[in-house]
Amino acid sequence: MPIGGGEAALIRRYFHTLTVQRHGVELGVGDDSALLDVDGEGRLAACCDTLVADVHFPADIPPEALGHRVLAVNLSDLAAVGATPSWVLLSLTLPEKDPAWLERFSDGFKTLADRFGVALVGGDTTHGPLSVSVTALGWVQGATGLRRSGARPGDGVWVTGTLGDAALGLALWQGRGSGVLSGDPAYLAGRLFRPEPRVAAGQALLGTASAAIDLSDGLATDLSRVLEESGVGATIQLEALPRSPAFIAEGGSEAQLLHGGDDYELCFTLPPLEEAALAHLRERVGVPMTRIGTIEATPGLRGEAGDGTVSALNPAGYDHFAGEA
Ligand code: ADP
Ligand code: MG
Repeated sequence: MPIGGGEAALIRRYFHTLTVQRHGVELGVGDDSALLDVDGEGRLAACCDTLVADVHFPADIPPEALGHRVLAVNLSDLAAVGATPSWVLLSLTLPEKDPAWLERFSDGFKTLADRFGVALVGGDTTHGPLSVSVTALGWVQGATGLRRSGARPGDGVWVTGTLGDAALGLALWQGRGSGVLSGDPAYLAGRLFRPEPRVAAGQALLGTASAAIDLSDGLATDLSRVLEESGVGATIQLEALPRSPAFIAEGGSEAQLLHGGDDYELCFTLPPLEEAALAHLRERVGVPMTRIGTIEATPGLRGEAGDGTVSALNPAGYDHFAGEA
């Protein structure tokens, strides 16, 4: 089965072939960001991601969280190719003109943009069901950029941060009734609403990691994309999957670790010779990085339990057009 039979097949059928063969397109449709050689010195990275109310976020999300999130998910796609974010364009489709909402939304957007030194240089504003979209541009200096296709047998499989927090945060948020979340649930909701794009980690992995992707649709689905693009397989150790103290305290499940979306951590592969370099790099970046498995020649993704039992792991992440021909 191709990954994400619906959405991925749709893109392949109608848009992959639409690309003109043009000089300078180093990486086009199919990776986290495109990489464009525009001046021979560095590469321009470009991506765009849209968030639709009640599909990508609960409609009652705090507006500042939505402003943060729409930018963060795009900076995460730039991080996945190792780019430094520079410019963004913002498209808004709004059901009404609500100054208080717009104030809070733009605050959330601006605070994150300021932190990464990103300039808003354009966009579009229309009337309709709530949906927000960002196009982000960044630079990859002096290196070819990370991509999904470079994993080789023997490489380690690594992830930044912890997994499953956003999925558990969403479950707690949706089950909160009218109550406000505090303590561990608030941390988990923060991971959902205010993901931290791993920009410094992506930059640091340039020239070290053999492949990378950001985790938007769940580890099993996104890692399977790397495996498919690289023509390899992998076995991951289920007990090695990194869990936050809040995830453990609130009883997060293995399904949330493997299939929960929206973590926006990076998953990358690392040749054995680079492991020593990673120890330094990890300290410099200040983000935990955990080895969770090994790339193998046999295609497919497998999970090894604590008792040594190995079973196939099927991608079960969100697909917008799953089940449609
Ligand atoms: P991500 O989750 O990393 O944002 P997506 O799953 O949204 O990636 O998209 C997969 C790939 O398909 C990306 O390279 C994206 O740029 C490309 N893509 C998605 N939709 C279209 C489209 N309508 N036209 C051209 N390329 C597209
Ligand atoms: Mg991505």
